[in-house]
Amino acid sequence: MIRPTPPSDHPLRIIGGGAAGLSLAIALARLDIKCEVIEASSYPRHKMCGEFLTGLDKETINTLGIEELVARSPHHHETAWFDKQGEIFRHSLPSPAYGISRHALDLALAKNARELGCIIHENTRWKAASDEPLDGTIIATGRRIIRSSRWLGIKAHFTNLETLSDLEMHLADNAYVGVCKVDDGAVTVCGLFDRQHAGQASGTPEQKLITAMRRCDLPALADRVATADFVTGSLNGISHVAFGMHQNSADSEKDKAIHFGDSFAIIPPFTGNGIAMALQSGVAAADIIADYATGKITWDEARLAARERLHELFNKRVAWANRLQPVLTSSLGKRSLRAISKTPLLPFNKLFKLTHG
Ligand SMILES: Cc1cc2nc3c(=O)[nH]c(=O)nc-3n(C[C@H](O)[C@H](O)[C@H](O)COP(=O)(O)OP(=O)(O)OC[C@H]3O[C@@H](n4cnc5c(N)ncnc54)[C@H](O)[C@@H]3O)c2cc1C
Repeated sequence: MIRPTPPSDHPLRIIGGGAAGLSLAIALARLDIKCEVIEASSYPRHKMCGEFLTGLDKETINTLGIEELVARSPHHHETAWFDKQGEIFRHSLPSPAYGISRHALDLALAKNARELGCIIHENTRWKAASDEPLDGTIIATGRRIIRSSRWLGIKAHFTNLETLSDLEMHLADNAYVGVCKVDDGAVTVCGLFDRQHAGQASGTPEQKLITAMRRCDLPALADRVATADFVTGSLNGISHVAFGMHQNSADSEKDKAIHFGDSFAIIPPFTGNGIAMALQSGVAAADIIADYATGKITWDEARLAARERLHELFNKRVAWANRLQPVLTSSLGKRSLRAISKTPLLPFNKLFKLTHG
């Protein structure tokens, strides 16, 4: 049922209608707080992401109303990790993961938010005026651009691509690439590459991804992907992506907005936990934003309380994932992983828990 939005002295606007912004809009609407979402692009659209979702809990799925999408998406139970020499190890996942495209996920979230009375302005890019008060402004615009970062991401969908496990993870020096089936029957191939090694490639979009894999020493995977059919329009690329907690206590005094999703913290993508974090952040901190909207607390109080709650939820897993990522992208790290995986000592479940909260 759509209830009329009550006039509010404390209006809210969410900048960015991705996983984090839309989950917050839905969670607020369920608390009877309506807000506006300003989104630069339009739905549906492909987005940079490996689309392998781990750590998504039932409460978040139900609150966001995406049960049907989750039910019809591939459920993944196993992962296999490879390097240039072949398979390193294969392991069952402690809990099922889902292969859900951003094309389908963000469209479903936007539809649910609208049905609950949220207003979404598509094709509208927000730019802060220097003297603009930021009370009531929630920034969920995705990654912050860190020019010094060496990482770039490239993702595309393919059909007629045989997979070797539910989630394939291919490790190289200075890169890793994930491969998994998603909801529409396609296979997502998504890599994180050191831009100096991947370099600039010419040719069609899919050739750029295949060239990056070859340059980063993943020839077997590049050959397999080269024989598959590229899904037109599915290629996305981003550069200057850096991992860690982006909003810490040091910058919080001058930063008057509240940040959600990647704008708050980015976990390295090998965890497949970034989307779950974005979705969980909206659900977990909506009550604080609602208290501001109903005049129970000030914006500054809401800002600090939201930051504290999100830190508590995500700090540990992001720190662990940040420690592990350099191990996965170094020769020594891969050699050690190969050696330890031949013994019963590989602490897969323990590391999974540490990197998934
Ligand atoms: C290489 C790579 C692979 C990944 N693989 C996975 C994976 O397999 N599984 C997983 O769970 N996570 C993965 N992630 C992480 C995941 O994609 C992110 O954590 C997730 O997208 C964060 O959601 P978000 O809503 O914060 O940001 P986004 O999804 O980026 O959404 C931000 C939105 O804000 C909009 N926007 C931006 N600027 C403006 C503006 N000025 N005005 C209005 N709108 C604006 C954008 O159009 C966009 O819709 C991966 C990340 C990378 C880099």
